[in-house]
Amino acid sequence: MTAFVFNEINFDNHEQVVFASEAKSGLKAIIAVHNTQLGPAMGGCRMWNYSSEAEAVRDVLRLSRGMTYKNAVAGLPIGGGKSVIIGNPKTDKTPALFEALGEALERLGGRYVTAEDVGTSPADMANVALKTNYVAGLGDRGDPSPFTALGCFVGAQAAVRHQFGRDSFDGLTVALQGLGHVGYDYARRLQEAGARLIVSDIDQAALARAQAELGAEVVATDAIYDVQADIYAPCALGATVNPETLSRLKAKIIAGAANNQLATPEMGIACREKGILYAPDFVINAGGIIKVCYEYLNTPETGLDAHVRRIGETLSEVFVQADADRLPTSVVADRIAEARFKK
Ligand code: NAD
Repeated sequence: MTAFVFNEINFDNHEQVVFASEAKSGLKAIIAVHNTQLGPAMGGCRMWNYSSEAEAVRDVLRLSRGMTYKNAVAGLPIGGGKSVIIGNPKTDKTPALFEALGEALERLGGRYVTAEDVGTSPADMANVALKTNYVAGLGDRGDPSPFTALGCFVGAQAAVRHQFGRDSFDGLTVALQGLGHVGYDYARRLQEAGARLIVSDIDQAALARAQAELGAEVVATDAIYDVQADIYAPCALGATVNPETLSRLKAKIIAGAANNQLATPEMGIACREKGILYAPDFVINAGGIIKVCYEYLNTPETGLDAHVRRIGETLSEVFVQADADRLPTSVVADRIAEARFKK
């Protein structure tokens, strides 16, 4: 039998994988519902010019599984899922494409709720919403990024407390990569708390602003891995914690917003061996999904700030447990998630 979904390396007992198509709009989408033990599966819709269907399957299986772990650790009453549209987000988007996706979600009857992701926008989600209510994070309800930044900040506080035995950022240096929606707000919070910033970005305007407003020192993109810093905060790209960068990083804490920071799971072990405290990405960057989930479920937002701040407490638990069991923090965080959704 030809290996496809069940034999794919990222297949992890996903409950349902749906291939959705529509001739008129040209929709070719894959919807993966990984786990709904805690509630309907929620996760964004990515549009990408995949080089093959197999690559799209791999991506949607991996990303949907990741959402189950992220949502469970964040204490949300939702499961994990993700969808991908095969196509070029710059040239292939039409309103009809996203309406067709909405119809496909409607057929799933609420088992999966989508939102924007890489390659899709609030405007695209508005077209999805013409055909279904199973869509979250619609444009008019506000940007989740400030909540992701808040989660990162309280996460970094927890890491500093654990690693350096202190509550303040005074005198600490943070090497922050990527001053985008999350990174800039996170940098501002760190600077206000007393940290010194060294930053990199490919966007010169963002760098100039950080220099002027936050007194940040600017370095070239590749130089961010070599600077003398206490905390490395990846807020741009995935896989920046790899054998090459790890041999260069001076920081004793990794605490940033980017998804999939570890190039391979083994990097979690390598961080531990090098005495670097790694705040698992899917724990520290959950502020945005917490905000989106509150909106979708119409949960009163009075508890939202406290919920996001609990990311700090969760990370403290992860750090203590990892020390006790001599395990990578990434493994401990996975176990906490699994204890919640594998009932
Ligand atoms: P963004 O696109 O607004 O910002 C990314 C920034 O990184 C931009 O300023 C870009 O110029 C910069 N950048 C790109 N390549 C770079 C490089 N080689 N070196 C340095 N900087 C570079 O994205 P965002 O919404 O701020 O998200 C940042 C990261 O956090 C992403 O990995 C995203 O997946 C993750 N994340 C975001 C949220 C959220 O709420 N927005 C939630 C969870 C995770």
